[in-house]
Amino acid sequence: MVRKLIAGNWKMNGSLAANAALLDAIAAGLGEPACDVAVCVPAPYLASVQAQIAAKAVVNPAYSAINLGAQDVSAHEQGAFTGEVSAAMLRDFGVRYCLVGHSERRQYHQESDEAVAQKAMHALAAGITPIVCVGETLAQRDAGATNEVVRRQLAAVIHTNGHCISEIVIAYEPIWAIGTGKTASPEQAQAVHAVLRAQLQAASQQSGRVRILYGGSMNAANAAALLGQQDIDGGLIGGASLKAPDFLTIIANAGANRA
Ligand code: PEP
Repeated sequence: MVRKLIAGNWKMNGSLAANAALLDAIAAGLGEPACDVAVCVPAPYLASVQAQIAAKAVVNPAYSAINLGAQDVSAHEQGAFTGEVSAAMLRDFGVRYCLVGHSERRQYHQESDEAVAQKAMHALAAGITPIVCVGETLAQRDAGATNEVVRRQLAAVIHTNGHCISEIVIAYEPIWAIGTGKTASPEQAQAVHAVLRAQLQAASQQSGRVRILYGGSMNAANAAALLGQQDIDGGLIGGASLKAPDFLTIIANAGANRA
């Protein structure tokens, strides 16, 4: 049974006080979720969110259902890389998931497919599950290149990580749908997820357990239809993860697990 995963990407939002309030509001409505849940928080807040989860889980077990995630990790193990945060450092703060290759990092920080693959490798080596983001621009979709683009992005990760590939999570995030309010239709998303699934299956017999999330303006209103697709194993949620009621509705819609 493959449990769905709903991961919030808080991006560069929040403050100590705002994060604490958001986490409390999520925990207050979470109960015992039928899916896995994570929040990917800005690096400076990993310690405070970890501490809040640990302290409050003692009285409310819902907190322990919230996994801690990071938004990026260094492509290097350690050393003279000023400003970088290593996978081992993330592990020190109880990080369970880490986004790698988010389109905003590929676009604004020129992250190559190879760098993304290295990041995934270091996360895996530290016992952190990388959530590898792939997706096409609108121009690439219009040119009919969507499948080629996402296959190329995933191929680099498969090439570098070999048999460990069954330990990753993938997030299909069409760039034209991120933060724009434009969502891929459930059929459009499912079609790309099926392409990624086939590529994984060709790479590893164990890949059936790899979760492929959809991300791109998923919200409380469209989550059920997207999450009802055969190959959509959860969501990576940006804007809607900053509003506890919306994030909780998406979690409640995560529905049945894949066999
Ligand atoms: C994201 O940043 O990963 C994302 C999916 O953002 P949004 O939900 O706001 O489109």
